Amino acid sequence: MIIAMKAEASDEQIQHICDRIREFGYTPHVIRGAERTVIAAVGSGDKKEHIESLKSAEGVEDAFPILQPFKLVSREVKKQKSVIRVGDFSLGDGGFIVMAGPCSVETREQLLATAESVAASGARVLRGGAYKPRTSPYDFQGLEEAGLKLLAEARERTGLKVITEVVNTSDVELVAEYADILQVGARNMQNFALLKKLGAVQKPVMLKRGLSATIKEFLLSAEYIVAHGNPDVMLCERGIRTFETATRNTLDLAAVPLLNELSHLPVIVDPSHATGKRSLVRPLARAAVAVGADGLMTEVHPRPEEAWSDGPQSLRFEEFGLMMREIEPYIDLRRAEVN
Ligand code: PEP
Ligand code: MN
Repeated sequence: MIIAMKAEASDEQIQHICDRIREFGYTPHVIRGAERTVIAAVGSGDKKEHIESLKSAEGVEDAFPILQPFKLVSREVKKQKSVIRVGDFSLGDGGFIVMAGPCSVETREQLLATAESVAASGARVLRGGAYKPRTSPYDFQGLEEAGLKLLAEARERTGLKVITEVVNTSDVELVAEYADILQVGARNMQNFALLKKLGAVQKPVMLKRGLSATIKEFLLSAEYIVAHGNPDVMLCERGIRTFETATRNTLDLAAVPLLNELSHLPVIVDPSHATGKRSLVRPLARAAVAVGADGLMTEVHPRPEEAWSDGPQSLRFEEFGLMMREIEPYIDLRRAEVN
């Protein structure tokens, strides 16, 4: 349930409500807004008598049940968009952040050249998998810690922040030491042990939508991370599996405004994995800006034909530069709309 405190509610009154919520068997999450504080009481139930009792407590404006199955990530609990700070920029503040880099970290030369090129074109975050969840056990599985070290070196050189995937619960601490944003891959969206562990991490997490996950399942997975203590979660629409085989997946563009309606978490679009086709990445990048995404993740490689993974969907440096120039007017248009 949600307990909206009066604007003038004191800290003691807020504390008292939190104590009552715990007595009733829920967990309180205090959300301090610019004008008033809202307390989300999360747990199963939302019993009528509990709501009635809290409604009449000192300092309470109103109390009502949360209707959605996902609670802390829902717009019902928090009206204003979540803003996630990453170094000197933010995600979810109305701007548009581009993350780019190779599918896999392959070599020092490959990673540094890509990092320098995407930074010069305006990317803010370098992507690159050091741990690769591959469909086939015979495919390249990633450089692991050596790959993390190369990502750190590229950050040092370019000032880009680093996003990289964590595949196993046992690697969370290690990956968190190197990464600025931890990525949960589509195949791990419902790895609940991993999600819980990421709840305890002090770094932002980007959760990718599962291959056949519904929006409700996607948001419930995000809820796991937030409920376990980490509020800095962003959602990534990366295409879903449909009957269509002409593209690798089907980019669910409607998911972007829908997620924005249902949740306050920032939304990122990945047109590379969504289509599997280099030629479709640029048009869909423009679409992502137009439908209200907070950012983009794209794969870029110096020589896509030689890439160890996902070459056909990786942009060449000049194509990435072109994509960045092409999305600029759409970003400007959006800025004009907001203001
Ligand atoms: C990736 O971004 O490297 C990746 C493996 O993507 P996904 O989990 O969306 O397939
Ligand atoms: Mn990839």
